Amino acid sequence: MGVSEYPDEVRTHTALHILKGAVVRVLGEGAMWTASVYAEGRHGRLTVQFDRKPTDEEVRAIEELANAKVAEDLRIEVKVLPREVAERTYGNVIYDLFPVPQHIKELYIVIVYDKDGSIWNINACNKQHLPSARYIGRIKVGKVRFRQTKKLLEIPFDIEP
Ligand SMILES: [Zn+2]
Repeated sequence: MGVSEYPDEVRTHTALHILKGAVVRVLGEGAMWTASVYAEGRHGRLTVQFDRKPTDEEVRAIEELANAKVAEDLRIEVKVLPREVAERTYGNVIYDLFPVPQHIKELYIVIVYDKDGSIWNINACNKQHLPSARYIGRIKVGKVRFRQTKKLLEIPFDIEP
């Protein structure tokens, strides 16, 4: 299947997982908590907790790294696991800033594998995803915004084509 054969929102949403991996690699573990995600059409926005505004060079490095991973066509797998198994196996890295409600006992664990078999990104997420990263196309990161009072870094992006 070509890039255009998947719905834009699935492509944009999947890009969030690839981008998040790049954000953590470039900015460090201090950026590991996702506060919110947004995807509509080919536009998305990843918001993470962070303590400062990244430099232009860092933003460019995030974009380049994310696109390198798209080009490497990282594989994406979804595992449905009992919550306690997922937590025991992977730890709290599967979670975002705002907790999954306690009554949810089964999780969809989305794993993006790096080329060497290690985990590029992992997240409990029940949305639809691409089978691999190349179908995303290209990720174009926009102007980031850092909200000092809330310690939130907003990273908007578009996918092309
Ligand atoms: Zn997802």
